[in-house]
Amino acid sequence: MDQGIRQEQGWTIDDDKCLRCGACVGVCPPLALDLTERGGIHFIEEKCTHCTLCEKVCPIGCIKVEPPKAKQHAH
Ligand code: SF4
Ligand code: SF4
Repeated sequence: MDQGIRQEQGWTIDDDKCLRCGACVGVCPPLALDLTERGGIHFIEEKCTHCTLCEKVCPIGCIKVEPPKAKQHAH
C-alpha cells in the first residue's frame, strides 16, 4: 500500500518514509520546500524549478521530481 505517498504538482513524497531530516529543505535553491512541525515537508509548487536536487539529496529516496511541465516547443 502506498498510503503515505503524497503527490503534488510534479513533486511526490513518501510521507511514511520521510525522516524529516530537512536535507531536501536545505538544498532547494528557490526555497520551495519547508519543514513543518506536523505535516512533514511542505512543497510550494510555484517556486519549484524541478532541478531534482531534493530527489538526489534525500538519503532514503522518498522524493520523486517530475520534469518541468512541458513547454510547447514549436519543433
Ligand atoms: S526540484 Fe529543486 S526546486 Fe523543486 S523542490 Fe526539489 S530542490 Fe526545490
Ligand atoms: S531529505 Fe528525504 S527524508 Fe529528509 S526531510 Fe527531505 S524527504 Fe524527508
